[in-house]
Amino acid sequence: MSSVGKMCIYCQKPIAIDDRVSLCDRCYAPHHDECWERNGRCSTFRCTGVPRTMEGGDLQAILRVELQRSLEYPVDCPFCANTVYAGEVQGKRKHADKDHPIGHGLLFVGQQKPNSHNDWFGKKFLSKMLGNRSVFLPGATIRSRSCGKCKRLFIWGVAVDEIFIQKLSEENLEHWCPHCSVVLLAGYIEMRKDQDGGAKFTCNDIPNFRKDWFGHNVIDRYFANSWHLLIPNLPAHYCSTCQYTEVAGHPIYRFL
Ligand SMILES: [Zn+2]
Ligand SMILES: [Zn+2]
Ligand SMILES: [Zn+2]
Ligand SMILES: [Zn+2]
Repeated sequence: MSSVGKMCIYCQKPIAIDDRVSLCDRCYAPHHDECWERNGRCSTFRCTGVPRTMEGGDLQAILRVELQRSLEYPVDCPFCANTVYAGEVQGKRKHADKDHPIGHGLLFVGQQKPNSHNDWFGKKFLSKMLGNRSVFLPGATIRSRSCGKCKRLFIWGVAVDEIFIQKLSEENLEHWCPHCSVVLLAGYIEMRKDQDGGAKFTCNDIPNFRKDWFGHNVIDRYFANSWHLLIPNLPAHYCSTCQYTEVAGHPIYRFL
């Protein structure tokens, strides 16, 4: 049975072409049908999505369309009821070195968790070599939404706040590269303002913070259309072979 390059987020095993798949309609996490059944709900923290079933072979094409659509929500912030804007999360490096070219992109910081129980030699070696290294991913960006008032981030329609991130970082499952079949390095995307390359959110359109004022187009477009998010980092996984990178199990860089 050949894999479709996606893992079930419940059992962490690959999804094959002829598997029956339950795709969450809210966060787009794929599950084996029987895994969804066993868990009784979507495995993503706080997600209240319902399953949409399909053949494993159709998953990638459906995902592409659905992820596109999910970027349109939410329109109003479920936390503070203000406007949520569509945009991108991206950083900018001002200083270059071997692993960090100048320019726009995202900074991945490796942070391998020690796990003395099931460490195999290769993994130990890898994490020693690359585990605490940071890499700049040129051009990488995360299409997302953010509330102009409370500055919360929404990716794939799901709120990515402190509690969500806490849940993601507690998870100690292995993630595999769907392209190279190696274990992905655990780490995070740097979001802190004082770090070179730390990512912030930029609106696609002009926000309307000063909509009552005649000069709002100019001010809001050029001076208020991007902001730093409240979260200091975004847990991520990175393939040191091909640079495939994912956040919460969804690819954000290379082979989207
Ligand atoms: Zn499964
Ligand atoms: Zn879900
Ligand atoms: Zn809000
Ligand atoms: Zn890879």
